[in-house]
Amino acid sequence: MTDAAAAAPVKIRPEIASLPPYKQGKPAGADAFKLSSNENPFPPLPSLIDALQAETTINRYPDATAARLRARIAERYDTTPDGVHIASGSVAIIAQLLLAVAAPGDEVIYAWRSFEAYPGLALVAGAQSVQVPLTADFRHDLPAMAAAITDRTRAIIVCSPNNPTGGVLTRTEVEEFLADVPSDVLVILDEAYAEFVTSSDAVNGRDAGFLAAHPNVIMLRTFSKAYGLAGLRVGYAVGHPRVLDAARSTAIPLSVTAQAESAALASLDAEDELLERVAILVDRRERLVAGVRATGWTVPDTEANFLWLPAGAAALAVAELFADGGIITRPFAGEGVRISVGEEESIDRVIDLAARALPLLNG
Ligand code: PMP
Repeated sequence: MTDAAAAAPVKIRPEIASLPPYKQGKPAGADAFKLSSNENPFPPLPSLIDALQAETTINRYPDATAARLRARIAERYDTTPDGVHIASGSVAIIAQLLLAVAAPGDEVIYAWRSFEAYPGLALVAGAQSVQVPLTADFRHDLPAMAAAITDRTRAIIVCSPNNPTGGVLTRTEVEEFLADVPSDVLVILDEAYAEFVTSSDAVNGRDAGFLAAHPNVIMLRTFSKAYGLAGLRVGYAVGHPRVLDAARSTAIPLSVTAQAESAALASLDAEDELLERVAILVDRRERLVAGVRATGWTVPDTEANFLWLPAGAAALAVAELFADGGIITRPFAGEGVRISVGEEESIDRVIDLAARALPLLNG
């Protein structure tokens, strides 16, 4: 028994008890920039605040099916509302899908390092994680992921752009990969950062006919990043209705509030304005990457709203130097540091701190 399991007053599943307790990122001080959670630095548009203020029926439960938002998203994806599933954040949909397809002893394959929630969600489902290392240039190694498939594989998560390294997969790479995946194995295409992608050959679950051609693929998107609604928790999946029914079956009902649904609809109404902000963030990203590279860091190409400093063993020391300089980052011990694209005023500060952090790389 682990120490944590021994200390708990009730019997806890040993694999759960052995998990480190959740640690919230450091709060940013008054003059610090919080660049640790890939959030959108722009405040909500006035039209969003109006939509929220109009949604006052909080004594009633919300619409469990989020029908208005599903219908709206179904239109964009040329599918039926059954082919859309809404949840309180796309991370919830990953959990629901894994619970739906993977039983104890089954395997879930994903690249590593990738989104830090994947291991815990697989574990909670009772499944075995199969982590396939990124390539030397921090991209998914899709041939190795295909080679890792066994008859116990129930789900494969593909993250493009990859959190935390930022690179995208091309349409061709993903098509080739899918040709190697048995048609009854679920592939979750996690596109949380899709709106920040600028290269035209990147995989895009919104491409006409893509999801229809691959009924085992579920695409995930979120309102948390480009649309700036991280605090309201709304994400969605598009794909085969029967697969999404299974996610609906494992979901905790009534998790999407009417406020969240209305705000998501209002942000689709205000999409042009929001995408202008995305363009500003993409411009900042390009300046940030160029500036940090000019200091001597190797920064992998990124098409998300963050960049990756491959700091290796110096990751925690680099993050500490940034924190002392008023930039809160997300370090991964022994691997690197992820820095979100934030406020305009943070750009020069990040570049300056990157220059100062570089000597730490050599011990
Ligand atoms: N997928 C990836 C790759 C992410 O980075 C995140 C957020 N950090 C999510 C999914 C979840 O986003 P949300 O639950 O806010 O929709």
